[in-house]
Amino acid sequence: MPTSAAAHFSATYRVRAHCPEGHLFAVELRLDDGPCGRRRLSLPAWCPGSYMIRDFARQVVRIAAQDADGRALTLTKLDKQTWELDPGPDAALPLLVQYQVYAWEMSVRSARLDCTHGFFNGPSLLLAVDDLVGQPVCIELLPPSGAAYAYWRVATSLRPLAAEPLGFGTYQADDYADLIDHPVLMGRFDLATFQVRGVAHRFILAGRHRCDLPRLERDLARVCEQHAALFGELPLDRYLFLTSAVGEGFGGLEHRCSSALLCSRDDLPQVTAAPDVAPGEGYRRFLGLCSHEYFHLWHVTRIRPAALVAGGLNAEVHTRLLWVFEGFTSYYDDLALVRSGCIAPAAYLQLLAETITRVLRTPGRLVQTLAESSFDAWTKFYRQDENGPNAVVSYYSKGALVALALDLGLRQGTGGRVSLDDLMRALWRRYGQTGIGVPERGLEVLAAELSGLDLTDFFARAVDGTADLDLEPLLAGVGISMRLRPPTGPKDFGGAVERFAPATPAPSLDLRLRPGTGDAMVENVFSGGAGESAGLAPGDQVVAVDGLRATASNLERLVAAVPADTVLRLHVFRRDELLELTAIPRPAPADTCELMLLTAVPEHVYAARTAWLAGRS
Ligand code: ZN
Repeated sequence: MPTSAAAHFSATYRVRAHCPEGHLFAVELRLDDGPCGRRRLSLPAWCPGSYMIRDFARQVVRIAAQDADGRALTLTKLDKQTWELDPGPDAALPLLVQYQVYAWEMSVRSARLDCTHGFFNGPSLLLAVDDLVGQPVCIELLPPSGAAYAYWRVATSLRPLAAEPLGFGTYQADDYADLIDHPVLMGRFDLATFQVRGVAHRFILAGRHRCDLPRLERDLARVCEQHAALFGELPLDRYLFLTSAVGEGFGGLEHRCSSALLCSRDDLPQVTAAPDVAPGEGYRRFLGLCSHEYFHLWHVTRIRPAALVAGGLNAEVHTRLLWVFEGFTSYYDDLALVRSGCIAPAAYLQLLAETITRVLRTPGRLVQTLAESSFDAWTKFYRQDENGPNAVVSYYSKGALVALALDLGLRQGTGGRVSLDDLMRALWRRYGQTGIGVPERGLEVLAAELSGLDLTDFFARAVDGTADLDLEPLLAGVGISMRLRPPTGPKDFGGAVERFAPATPAPSLDLRLRPGTGDAMVENVFSGGAGESAGLAPGDQVVAVDGLRATASNLERLVAAVPADTVLRLHVFRRDELLELTAIPRPAPADTCELMLLTAVPEHVYAARTAWLAGRS
């Protein structure tokens, strides 16, 4: 650390990838000035963008403090995440707090380190100093020692102070909130760069892969441009996608100037594929993830719920608005793919139909409102158990459908004058550009103000009620026909069709099996269904149906083979005890959505559809 650089900062963090084999980061926090009295140091209990208590401090394995002369200082632990540093009367500055953090979680939210790469999200590693949280700080990043690590590079959106591009060295942050908003990846990785509205964007890819980076670069640039066009500006001077490719994985976390992504390497566009082939299911999912996190750079990291602006990271912060922030983002993530031309309208309808199906297959939607789901995210949505589908509705999926209903409703109610795009721009101007938090009813007020429509009943039903949204007439207004039918099998998630085929409901036990096992292990039993009436429970292993051996692959077939309302004899292991139950399968519910793009539609309907899918009011 050059002393000239350190002199500007009252706190300096030095993070070394200390022991890749033991998965340990070593952090040294140096306090150069400020009051020499007692001060509190803490790690956050949760990280922005992920509403669950994670108690990052549990991974601190040792911590100690000393002064500039090497004298040990008293560091007292006050609670699960807070320490009090007492330098005493004679401590020589600077004070040094040294600690190690165990880092071995493959997640975008925490930290990991081994001999292939290192990654950390600030809240999991960097202590806050209570009297310095508003002060500028700097952070020095150091590689593991040894020749094997000589080719490691660094990717972060932190602003360099004394570091080469992609190099280890010193970076700076405006304050603690800024410091922990730039995840860091170190190791060997590949890199693609592109420009959006003159702003440099970098895409970092770590992990083994065969990704067609030029293709990804081209598609990502179109998606990012689409979002920038929606909001009318790109409020940053750099952006970074930090991606780790693994065998099986999916996740993303948004930040103001970057996003951390985890994906399956098979979801990346492969170099072997023909360059112009339409994105397959996996690549569409990955592009959707990038699109989602990028949209958050406006909506969540700059347009923020007032509760989160005022909140803090030491305990849960409650808002009823996550359906606006995650739901609307989920709506726009896929919509941007079709608007940017990365996928065709039929492919978009496929995604939309799957979302509708997912919501309709959640009995919890009839129990929990979107506002409640948002409020209780900490203990319900993020901590779902086997009863989750019966008790919880996703503010992502149902929130996306409310966004769709609001968008089409606004367009139809105002004769095409106002759309959800206008509402997003108004949110941006009123709350994003000003930094003022969105009040709990802020979006509803703004929507009414902008459109002149009375939307009280819509929001009461969609957000504070549990009735299903009436999407069919809204979709008809843009020339899309919607139908619900029973599923044809376990891999039927609905989709886009060219014509509606007849469908007959097969008898069903209305349950879901645990994936990835050959045995018929029950994962969920849906409320009010035939499985629940029979007395089946999550964790049961169904071993026979009417005396015939049942497995994960044939259970559904065995049940569907008999007429509905026939009594079936089930043999089931619960824990280690064999039970005999009787079940009366019922016709599977019509919970599978099909959407059809109508070709012969009146001109005004065609114009409305084109405006919607092209992103015009
Ligand atoms: Zn999100």
